[in-house]
Amino acid sequence: MDKTTTTQLQAGTASQRVRTALVIGGGIAGPVVATALQRVGIRATVCEAYAGTADGIGGGMGFAPNGLEALDAVGIGDAVRAVSTPMEGMVIESWNGKHLGEFGNLPGVPAQRFVQRSDLYRVLNDAAEAAGVTTLTGRRLVDAVDDGTQVTARFEDGSTATADLLIGADGIHSTVRRLIDPSAPDAEYAGTHSFGGWVEDSGLPDTGGKMYMSFGKRAFLGWQVFEDGRCLWFVNLPSTTPVTVAEQRAKGAEFWLRTMVELFREDANPAVRLLERTDPGELMFAGSMEFMPSVPTWSRGRMVLVGDAVHAPSSSSGQGASLAIESAVQLARCLRDLPVDQALATYEQLRRPRVERIMKATARTNARKAAGPVGRVVRDALLPLMFKLMKPEKSAWQYVHPIDFAAPVA
Ligand SMILES: Cc1cc2nc3c(=O)[nH]c(=O)nc-3n(C[C@H](O)[C@H](O)[C@H](O)COP(=O)(O)OP(=O)(O)OC[C@H]3O[C@@H](n4cnc5c(N)ncnc54)[C@H](O)[C@@H]3O)c2cc1C
Repeated sequence: MDKTTTTQLQAGTASQRVRTALVIGGGIAGPVVATALQRVGIRATVCEAYAGTADGIGGGMGFAPNGLEALDAVGIGDAVRAVSTPMEGMVIESWNGKHLGEFGNLPGVPAQRFVQRSDLYRVLNDAAEAAGVTTLTGRRLVDAVDDGTQVTARFEDGSTATADLLIGADGIHSTVRRLIDPSAPDAEYAGTHSFGGWVEDSGLPDTGGKMYMSFGKRAFLGWQVFEDGRCLWFVNLPSTTPVTVAEQRAKGAEFWLRTMVELFREDANPAVRLLERTDPGELMFAGSMEFMPSVPTWSRGRMVLVGDAVHAPSSSSGQGASLAIESAVQLARCLRDLPVDQALATYEQLRRPRVERIMKATARTNARKAAGPVGRVVRDALLPLMFKLMKPEKSAWQYVHPIDFAAPVA
C-alpha cells in the first residue's frame, strides 16, 4: 500500500456500534485484540511503528496460564502451546548458594510456560493474519483526531487512517495514553536495568524445566539450562537512575559483560561462567525495568487503551503479557455486545480491579532486586524466613481466570 495515501476503512455509520478499528501497536496486545475483533465482525487494522517483524528479537519469557486460557477463548492457545514448553517451577538462592525457596506448579493450576518472545510475536501475528487482520508496518502514530463518530490517526510518515475506534496497544510508553489524557502518568522506573543472553554450550546440568534465580551480592541472576545444554540467562542490575537501551548499547556489549563479571565475582552462582561464555554480538539489551502506576483514564470518546499502555505490572511479575491478552479479549467482547460508550466503560469495569490487584501483589518483586547496600543486608537476613512463610497457593487466583468469550456481556 502506498504509504503517502490516506487509509479510509469502511467506517460504520453514525451508529454507536463499532464496525472498524485501528489498533496501534503490533506487539502482544495488538494482534490479539485485532484477531478477537475480527472474530466478532469488527474489521481491524494493526499499525506498527517498526518496519520489520520481530523475528529473532528478544529473549525467553515466562508465560502465565491465565494468558494461555485467554488465548484459548479466541482459538489461539494451541498455537502458543506448540511453540512453548511447560516450566516445572522456580528455585531461589542467595548469593552464597544457600537455598532460599522453591516453588513448583500449584495444584489445580496449569503450568507456566517458557516461550521465546520472537516465537510468541510470530504466532500471534500469524493468527491475526489468518483471521483477516491487515497489518501495516512502518506506521508510527504521532497524533489522532476524534470527531465524535470516527477517529483519524496520523503517522510519522505523513499517512493517515480513519476508523470507528482507535485502540492504543502501543506499550508502556504509549502515545495513545497521552492523546487520551495529556496528564496521564508515565511509566515509573523500577530500580534495575537488564540484560539477557543465551549460552550454547553452558556445561551446566539441565535444570529440569526449572528457572533458577540468585539474589547476588550486587546484582540479580536468573538462569535455566535446557536438555541440550543451552542456557538462557538474565541479569537485573540495580541503578539509581534509569538506563535506556540506547545508552546500554552505546557502551557496548564487551563493557557490560566485563562489568557484570566483576559484579558477580564473589557470588556462588554460575553468572561469571555464563557471562564469559556469552557471545558479545548476542547480548540482549533490555533497558530499564519499569511499571505503570494506576492510569486514571482508560478511554476517551473513541480511543481506548489495552495492554502495557494501561496496565504494565513489574516485569518480574511474569504477568505482563497475560494481562495484556486478557484485556484484549475482554475489550473485543464488550465491543461486540454494547454500543461504544458503554462498551468502553464496561471493559474498564471488568478489567481494572483485577489488573490493579495483580500489579499491587507483584510490585515488591523488583524492590528486592534493587536493594542498596543497607537494604541488601536486611533483605539477605529476612529472605530465608520470608520464603519459609510464603504461601504460593495464595496467589493461585492470579493464574486461574477463565473468560467465556461466547457469553454476552451484561
Ligand atoms: C525485560 C522484560 C522481561 C519481561 N518478561 C516477561 C515475562 O517473563 N512474562 C510476561 O508475561 N511479561 C514479561 N514482560 C512484560 C511483557 O513484555 C509486556 O507486558 C508485554 O509485551 C505487553 O504487550 P503489549 O502489546 O501491551 O506491549 P508491547 O509488547 O510493548 O508492544 C507494543 C507495540 O507497540 C509498538 N508501538 C509503540 N509506539 C507506537 C506508535 N506510536 N505507533 C505504532 N506502534 C507503536 C511497539 O513497537 C510494539 O511493537 C517483560 C518485560 C520486560 C521489559
